[in-house]
Amino acid sequence: MAELIFLGTGTSQGVPVIGCGCAVCTSNDLRDQRTRSSVLVRTDGVSLLIDGGPDMRQQLLRERISKLDAVLLTHEHMDHISGLDDLRAFTFAQDPPKAVPIYGTAGTLEAVRRVFAYAFSGNGYPGMPKFDLYEIDKDPFMVKSVRIQPVEVMHMRMPVLGFRIGGLAYITDAKTIAPEERDKLRDCDVLVLNALRMEPHISHLNLDEALAVIEDLRPGRAYLTHISHYMGKHADVKLPPHVQLGFDGLRVEV
Ligand SMILES: [Zn+2]
Ligand SMILES: [Zn+2]
Ligand SMILES: [Zn+2]
Repeated sequence: MAELIFLGTGTSQGVPVIGCGCAVCTSNDLRDQRTRSSVLVRTDGVSLLIDGGPDMRQQLLRERISKLDAVLLTHEHMDHISGLDDLRAFTFAQDPPKAVPIYGTAGTLEAVRRVFAYAFSGNGYPGMPKFDLYEIDKDPFMVKSVRIQPVEVMHMRMPVLGFRIGGLAYITDAKTIAPEERDKLRDCDVLVLNALRMEPHISHLNLDEALAVIEDLRPGRAYLTHISHYMGKHADVKLPPHVQLGFDGLRVEV
């Protein structure tokens, strides 16, 4: 049994987009207000955050998350890592202070060191964020008692990690998924998959492509995420019965 909390379900700009007056960006439906994509997974008493983008602080406050055992990073783009400085709150809530472990590929961790260079400079000061980085590749790894299987997907030319945790799989920023990686995603109870908009895009699955992946992988249920305002209003998007658009604050039992 696991609990999945959708912290954010928006693409890199979020929805509404700054300065946009379209029907989605001005919608009163709260499901049309999408912060940057991230989820929290709770299983076996372990709390895992997948990605920490620019809205991370507000998302964790909104969902009253007071404990994190690890952060899993999918890739280095800012909409997935730029909020990590705010993990300080968890670090300094412990006595003595202890950083939340962060897992990512060598490339992703290199970007974390570059973006948060002040925290790695050796010029420490009280209250400075601490980063505890663990390099992963495509091999399974453990966080406490929880086994996590990375799944490599392609974001045009950039490899991105998705994560399979028991019956749950979370994939974001995919455009293509190789056959051997797809095999790691079969027989899921719940699959979360990115779907940007109706029209094709060079580095993200669009709605039709995402539905074709779901058709191939045959999860029990699927939730779409990393959604742009071009998808249309949440209430207007027509989907098969076992597929839904995710929305911020949605909680799913797996
Ligand atoms: Zn993204
Ligand atoms: Zn708009
Ligand atoms: Zn990306």
